[in-house]
This record gives sequence, structure tokens and C-alpha cells, in this order.
Amino acid sequence: MSGVGKGITTSSIGKILQAYGLGVTAFKIDPYINVDAGTMNPTEHGEVFVLKDGYETDQDMGNYERFLNIELSRDNYMTTGMVYKSVIERERNLEYVGKCVQVVPHIPLEVIARIKRTAKKDKADVAIIEIGGTVGEYENILFLEAIRMMKIESPKDVITVMVSYIPTPSTIGEMKTKPTQHAVRTLNGTGIQPDIIVARASRPLDEKRKGKIAIFCSVRKEDVISAPDVESIYDVPLNFEKDHLSAILFHKLGLKPRKQNDTLEEWARVVKRIHSATDEVHIGIVGKYFKTGDYVLSDAYISVIEALKHAACKIGKKAILTWIDSTDFEEDSKKLATLKQYNGIIIPGGFGKRGIEGKLAVIRYCRLKKLPYFGLCYGMQLLVVEYARDVLGLRDAHSTEVSPDTKHPVVDIMPEQKENMRKKNYGATMRLGHYLAHIFPKTIAWSAYGTENILERHRHRYEVNPEYVEDLKKGGLVFSATSPDGVLMEIAELPKKNHPFFLATQFHPEFQSSLLHPHPLFVAFLKACMKKQ
Ligand code: GLN
Repeated sequence: MSGVGKGITTSSIGKILQAYGLGVTAFKIDPYINVDAGTMNPTEHGEVFVLKDGYETDQDMGNYERFLNIELSRDNYMTTGMVYKSVIERERNLEYVGKCVQVVPHIPLEVIARIKRTAKKDKADVAIIEIGGTVGEYENILFLEAIRMMKIESPKDVITVMVSYIPTPSTIGEMKTKPTQHAVRTLNGTGIQPDIIVARASRPLDEKRKGKIAIFCSVRKEDVISAPDVESIYDVPLNFEKDHLSAILFHKLGLKPRKQNDTLEEWARVVKRIHSATDEVHIGIVGKYFKTGDYVLSDAYISVIEALKHAACKIGKKAILTWIDSTDFEEDSKKLATLKQYNGIIIPGGFGKRGIEGKLAVIRYCRLKKLPYFGLCYGMQLLVVEYARDVLGLRDAHSTEVSPDTKHPVVDIMPEQKENMRKKNYGATMRLGHYLAHIFPKTIAWSAYGTENILERHRHRYEVNPEYVEDLKKGGLVFSATSPDGVLMEIAELPKKNHPFFLATQFHPEFQSSLLHPHPLFVAFLKACMKKQ
């Protein structure tokens, strides 16, 4: 079931194996037709995570990278659309030499080939494959078929883990294992028997429940792993170890640890810091992707949330995050004063026109009231628009994304991208993936990174218009990092003497933060926030 924790389970299994010295890689399989996640609405699907090679994927890929400290590529991601597309292309290229190309076996065979190729390229001892969706759906059946075929081919090398939800209905007050029993039967119908069952529930499973699952689902009691609700997702690998998951994995896969699990000890030390932090730092995140029906979701900004948690853990604080809808400030500008209660404000990435004037008002408030501000991508473009309007006096300055005919297009699309837009070649109009940037000395960015060259991940169409850069600089804005040729502005900031922290990036630093390696700009931002009275 989506949201039950398959991504964190996958990442945690990887973490445990890594801790014993094994090389690990991870795959996400999304059973939808979309060839990548770039065109999907974040309110529906959650955040689009960008890999270093520019591929736009599912947020789970972010979890794998954050837990495992590995950099994944487009080869570690698969959708139904992608698999069918390559099978059809190969058929057109006569690669099946006259054979009748069929859904089975050719689609599962393509899935298997991709998994094997990538596991080899990643030099992995173990490849962990997460199949999205729920057992019993039509959508993921061919991926399950691929796993079944792999297991027949190499029974000792393939194990299957089922993540199942064990509800405790409030009217009964008891954990119910029946849905899991049915799920296993449905899975059996595809020819797969789980080797391990990860039981997601509000509390740890008692022996009785484990026994029931064991009998009815044909697994050993020891192979039922408790996955209770946790305060922090980073607790999960440690919880799994309470049920001896590493020993079970090694036994079932016939592998041996290569070293002692000292990395998991380091992990445990860091996780302890998360739990012991009491001093709070309050951050307001101003965006628009929050409401869906009656629910407010923060999934769209999962990497920003995690990056804040990593940085807070590093400085021994507890990050308290509040979701603020930017349209609120458009309806009532007096509401801006409510921002006082936060130690700092973040405006994360975004697209389109809605809520933009509200965001600009927030940026102006932060600038004038010296409230720490950290802008990410759109958050930098809007910082430039606000600065041009208020400091340079260019009243109708705007991004051409919002106002295509503005007299002062301070944020605009670059000429070569315009050509792609004209040809409706939208897939090619984004700057995606990692790009090198140079940082200039004696800036906030410089002191945060402590280095001159950085590689950061991008996902945007628009850029600060080079024609306005000199005027913006004369007006006091510092561009502390640019592309190596100096044309594209990558970080904008105000000098420390004028503002405690007013900095924004054209890239998305949140995509490269992990628990053990928090991103330096998030750390610098939170440090500045802590100084605010
Ligand atoms: N909408 C802006 C652009 O396309 C910013 C994108 C973002 O924030 N990721 O350039």
C-alpha cells in the first residue's frame, strides 16, 4: 500500500547491509505509464526528486540516497511506460529478429535485464528492488512476474520482503492480522511467497501476533519483523535490528558480513542526537502545494523537510516546521506580521502564477525585518524580482513565467530554451541535474561550503536575466556563485553586515543532504535562525 513505508523499509534494509560492509544499490519501480515523474503534479504524487544525471523520479529515490549516501542514476528507476517504450523501440529496430513480441515474457525479461545491468554497473553485492503499488493490483503484476522469474532462475540469490499494514481498529483495540493474511494469499497467486514480512503497525508486534502471521502466512516467526510507528524515519534500521534483520538477511541470502557494523553504531549516535534535542528552531515554509481535499500534505517538499532535520540534528536543535500558504498574504497583508513568530523562513521551489505576490510580500518582509530567509530555486528568482522592484525601483519587474510581457524581465528563459519552448519540445526546456558552480570568496556561501567549486542539482526553466545582473549588483545584491562561464547566477545573497541571512540558490541544495552529511547551506541557515531573538 502506498505510504505504508516501503521506501523507508528498502532504504533501511540497504543501510543495515551497508553497515556490515556490503555494496548496496536500490531500484524503484513505479507501475504507472509516465516515462518519468517530471510531468506529475506534486500534490498527487509528492515531490519530484532530481537525480544527478537530471532524471526526474519518485521521492523514494531521495530516501535511498539520504539513507545510503549513494548517488543513483536513471538506471535505478523504472516505470511501466519506460519498460514498454524500450521493448517497442527494440521491436521496431528488429532486435527480436522476427519473433512475436509478447507481454509475457518480453516485458518481465526487459525488467530483469535492467535490474541485472544496473546492479553490475553499481558493483552491488545486493540490489534492493522496491515495487510500487499494492499486491493485487493489475498495474504491478508484470513486475511481480519478473521477480518470480528471477527467483526461479536463482532461488538462493533472490528473497522477497512484503511490507504489510497491521491495523488496530479503534473500536476493537486489537491488532488485526487478517488483511496481511489475505495479502499474502494474493501474492501467492502471483507465484511468490514472501521470505520476510515487515509488519507496519502503530506499535511493535507482540509474540502472539507474530505467531499468527507465521502460521497463516507460511513464514517463520523470526521472519516477521516489527515496524512500529516511529518518531523519526532514521530509527527504522535500528528497530529492524532489534528483530535481528541483518542476521536473517545474511542467512537467507547466503552472504557473510565483510566487517563489523560500526556504521550502524555511528548512525545510532546521530539518531540519538535527534531524540535528545529539545531546543527548538521554528521555520515557516511558504508554498502552495499543501492542500488536497480536506488534507494538508507536506510530501511535495519532503527533501526540504529532511534537509532541515539533518541540519537541525547537526547543530543539536529540534526543527519545528510550519506550512504557510502564500495566498493568505495576498488576501490580508496584515498577516505578514505573524511571520515574526518564526526563526526563519524558507520559500522552496515552485511553478506557475498562483500565490506569487504573497511570496514576494514574504520576501520583502524578511528583507526589511532582517528575518533569516532561505530561497530555493523559485525562492531565488522571486528574491531577485522583489529586489529589482523595491531596491532598484523597477516597479513592474517580474519573471516572464508569471508576466510574459513585463517591461523588466529580470528572470527570463535563456535563448536556447526559448527555441525549445517554441517547438513545444517541453521535455528539453529544463535545466536538470547537477551543474558545476564557482563560489566567490568572502561571501556567506563561501564560508558555508568552505570550497570554491560545487556541484548542485537543478530543475528549472528560468534564470536570472544576465542583462540585469550589473544593476542588481550595483543595488547591493551579491551573486556569490555563478556558472563557471559567469553567465548564470547560482546563489544570491545580501552581505552579512546588512542582513543576518538573506540567501537563495538557483539550484536545489535539499537534494544533496543526508543525515550523516547535512547540506552546509541548511546548516548555515539554521545557525543564523538560532541567533534571531
Ligand atoms: N518555476 C521556476 C522555473 O521553472 C522555478 C522552478 C523551481 O523552483 N524548481 O525556473
